[in-house]
Amino acid sequence: MHEPDTAPGIRNRSGSGVTRHTCPPSGGTDLRRSAAGVGGAHRFASGTGDNAPVTRPDQLRLLAVHAHPDDESSKGAATMAKYVAEGVSVLVATCTGGERGSVLNPAMDRPEVWERLPQIRVEEMAKAREVLGIEQEFLGFVDSGLPEGDPLPPLPEGCFALVPLEEAAAPLVALIRRFKPQVITTYDERGGYPHPDHIKTHEISVFAFEAAGDPDRYPELGEPWQPSKLYYHMSFTLPRTRALHEAILATGAESPYTEWLANWDPARDISHRVTTRVPCGEYFEVRDAALIAHATQIDPLGRWFACPIDTQREIWPTEDYELARSLIDATTPEDDLFAGLRSEVGVR
Ligand SMILES: [Zn+2]
Repeated sequence: MHEPDTAPGIRNRSGSGVTRHTCPPSGGTDLRRSAAGVGGAHRFASGTGDNAPVTRPDQLRLLAVHAHPDDESSKGAATMAKYVAEGVSVLVATCTGGERGSVLNPAMDRPEVWERLPQIRVEEMAKAREVLGIEQEFLGFVDSGLPEGDPLPPLPEGCFALVPLEEAAAPLVALIRRFKPQVITTYDERGGYPHPDHIKTHEISVFAFEAAGDPDRYPELGEPWQPSKLYYHMSFTLPRTRALHEAILATGAESPYTEWLANWDPARDISHRVTTRVPCGEYFEVRDAALIAHATQIDPLGRWFACPIDTQREIWPTEDYELARSLIDATTPEDDLFAGLRSEVGVR
């Protein structure tokens, strides 16, 4: 699971990367080829030609850019389920195949799982996609892995984090021009947590947000489309983690957040940046079902499920975001990623 094993507000004390992330044998370009090959498992369109989707002018469209399969289920999943239920068209772009992820569910830590982990992760993504009711497309890059050690080893050749920015952003620019989202979500400049693929995901999202609308950039990748709003995920904040922690303790159970909170540097908390809280508590079950679909990455007995859903709904019924860029008049705080866009698109 590419989740914050240390919370986002915590400096990595060893400076050696987050642990619990082991790398299967690296395959360089072979890995990349295989990722691109299996990545077409579910593409809402296969190119800019005849298969391009018909995007209705009165349709609200949300594009969520994520680094690995499973990130979409741990960041903003309830928001996506809510918008799907409202008729919004939601597409997830998954930058890499998660090939260098680990098996983090003890029940799945078996040789036959490790042998075909990249393919299994594609299958898990397909299940999560069904649960969430979203479209999803792999961008075809190879997981960079999470470097560990002191000093840190170099990143593996050909991995996503090492692809030059212009080249790395190209598939996303093409996707934006085909799907025509009004709203894009991605990670903040720290990646939400310090994985090189998350940082890179942030970089290409910011870059593509601008470039997709510029007719002079990537003219070969389709007609320009300028999204209106760009958001960063802001759900892993100190106040929310503290609230969950206290709620769990109140039930008499042990909190999985104790160590996080003990090491959390308040100066690195990001909660003051939240502009937008999307009420989505009634979709927390859908979020959890999507997480469970990533069976190699999620331990059903783990921290994701430590706080009862009804309690979560009571104490923190929203997923939170920072409006990082807006080309429309947006008044914050707000509770809707499409605030200010609905009348323009003609949808309520
Ligand atoms: Zn990740």
